[in-house]
Amino acid sequence: MKISTHLNLAEVTRSDAAKRHGIDNTPTAEHLENFKLLAEKVFEPIRLHFKTPIFISSGYRSQALNAFIKGSATSQHCKGQAIDIDMDGSNAGVTNKMVFDFIKDRLEFDQLIWEFGTDTNPDWVHVSYSKTGNRKQKLKAVRSGGKTSYINIP
Ligand SMILES: [Zn+2]
Repeated sequence: MKISTHLNLAEVTRSDAAKRHGIDNTPTAEHLENFKLLAEKVFEPIRLHFKTPIFISSGYRSQALNAFIKGSATSQHCKGQAIDIDMDGSNAGVTNKMVFDFIKDRLEFDQLIWEFGTDTNPDWVHVSYSKTGNRKQKLKAVRSGGKTSYINIP
């Protein structure tokens, strides 16, 4: 099932943990609508700009899956409002930093996170979009002493 021109539902619900443990990761109708909006406002513009497949490492997490992996209950992944993009496996010359910068400079978004990595490239990019208002918050996730903290990026 397509949720936008270049995005299939399977790409945003795919989860190794769900598969391995037989957990249902089907989005609710409301969450599916959120995903369609995210695909239209964020995913498709990225896909069209770079003209190459954009890899989603994490998309939807149902309540059951989120409880199983002990994820944050307030995560926008649980509402169909967030995707993680990871271009490390791409040979098209598109880096995670390029995707991050494109979103930051050109798109509307709620939260954009430079996830770990180095100063020159994040390990992956988290981006969310909310139909009820977008904060355009830019953050960098860092680990110290086994804890994750988020630093505001101007
Ligand atoms: Zn994420």
